[in-house]
Amino acid sequence: MKIFECSTIDIAPTISRLLKIPMVPPSGRPIPEVENYAKERGCKRAVIIVVDSLGYSLYRSFSPLLKNLNELAEKGLVFKCKSTAAITSPAIASIFTGYLPEEHNIYSTADIYAETAKNPENPKVRSIMEWACRAGMKASAVIESEGAESFRGRLKSFYGVPDSEDILDYDRKITEYALQSLKERPDILAVHLRSLDRFSHRAKNWEELKKAAEAVDENLSKIFRKAEKGTVFFICGDHAIHGGAKWLKDATKEEIENHRENVVALIVGCS
Ligand SMILES: [Zn+2]
Repeated sequence: MKIFECSTIDIAPTISRLLKIPMVPPSGRPIPEVENYAKERGCKRAVIIVVDSLGYSLYRSFSPLLKNLNELAEKGLVFKCKSTAAITSPAIASIFTGYLPEEHNIYSTADIYAETAKNPENPKVRSIMEWACRAGMKASAVIESEGAESFRGRLKSFYGVPDSEDILDYDRKITEYALQSLKERPDILAVHLRSLDRFSHRAKNWEELKKAAEAVDENLSKIFRKAEKGTVFFICGDHAIHGGAKWLKDATKEEIENHRENVVALIVGCS
């Protein structure tokens, strides 16, 4: 399989190009391989699923476990994708806006309000879902409650799940809402699954981390099955896994390098 390269800030402008969502061109650039791939298949809708901590090296190590994700990858495209930050909030803001952290200045949920208050028309804090909504398209997000709340007045449809000690249950709820949202036939939907990240901080061994990966793959499969034909999926990590030394014990030199450079996996595939 050929592996392509890109940055997480390229995802939003790529979706803008594919779905013809008007957007002030951000710092990221549309990914030509994805443009060709999705155009050939006539994809009209997009679903972004951020799999928290899905670094590229971790994706390769877990590949045999991620059956549903691999099925998508086999008929789609796989990228080594440069992440913009080592922590979640700025990294996800880059995926959604197409800008680097030093440009969007979003390091926490509170920053979304602060930056918007400074300049409500600032294009650098506007997510691709919001651009779609402003163009009269249907856009939705399914994320943690506080983050979801920040979309109030900016998106017509959003779903929040309160943070939970039981992260597998949390991701199941996120997935249920994603399925519910798909019934409304959104042009663009963004979802954030967190089990892998939480387990990376708390799990004691590789076996436990595998459990989280399998749960993520199961949730992905549910979403894949419910999406309408002609949907292009962007499955990506936000940053490489925390505690890399612990999780990449038997890693190759290349894997360690990918981890150090904060390279995440991006899998693009059409339903
Ligand atoms: Zn994260």
